[in-house]
Amino acid sequence: MNIIRAKTAGFCFGVDRAVKLTYDLLADGHKVATLGPLIHNPQVVEDLEAKGALTCPDVASVPDGYEVIIRSHGVPQTVYDEISTRRLAYHDATCPFVAKIHKIAMRADENHALLLVAGDASHPEVQGIVGHTKGKVKVFANLEELEKMLPELLQQESIYVVAQTTFRVESWEKCKEFLKKQCTKAEIFDTICNATWARQQEAEDLSQKCDHMVVIGGHHSSNTQKLLQVAARHAVAINVETADELDPAWLKDAVTVGVTAGASTPSSIIEEVLNSMSEEIRDDM
Ligand code: SF4
Repeated sequence: MNIIRAKTAGFCFGVDRAVKLTYDLLADGHKVATLGPLIHNPQVVEDLEAKGALTCPDVASVPDGYEVIIRSHGVPQTVYDEISTRRLAYHDATCPFVAKIHKIAMRADENHALLLVAGDASHPEVQGIVGHTKGKVKVFANLEELEKMLPELLQQESIYVVAQTTFRVESWEKCKEFLKKQCTKAEIFDTICNATWARQQEAEDLSQKCDHMVVIGGHHSSNTQKLLQVAARHAVAINVETADELDPAWLKDAVTVGVTAGASTPSSIIEEVLNSMSEEIRDDM
């Protein structure tokens, strides 16, 4: 069995920045509380909690004296307002690529444009984006949903279109094509993050060379699940959070296995999975 590791596997810039910031603050003795789990990786979150970080669902549950950490997904403007009302200190780890989308949302508000967001309406990043305009907003998950919105879109004076940073590149291209033909008022901003694009592209290429693909990352991580969908188009694909979840029987007939990992997967977990696969190969010899 050959194993090929994707070059782009693991932490992206924004996640790396948020994780480093939190570990550094803890090491300096700060009492910190993250708004929601810092990243979509339960092992990292557990380790941060063991070092004293609190994971709080909202600003109201942050104890006095704690400093708030805003995670890379970003938050709606109302959360900044609540932090300010409570006079809490905070550290903003909103990824700069997400912050850029917030600025576009604010501009849509100022210019009375409809903000059209390609993404998952229930995802915190999308809620953060939507929460940066007080004007009209529509969220669509795919081309089919966008097509249904067309009559309403045609009535708008001005439309700004953005995508969740982890939106599927292929789907975004189709949506853009549709809008360019059917709704010429739409001003489109390419906001899919390069890290996401590069991971999806490499997963696509790698899965064409492999018969099996292991995608390491949180079961609730949006970018990991999208990598899994891409990988599953060309190979038998599985998602594991840790090395323990990798059943050796699953690799029984594998000849070439590609390994990739979501943007919130630390290199230590990738190494553990690769080591356990190498052990399988040795045991089989
Ligand atoms: S995937 Fe991209 S946008 Fe999201 S945190 Fe990472 S670098 Fe930032």
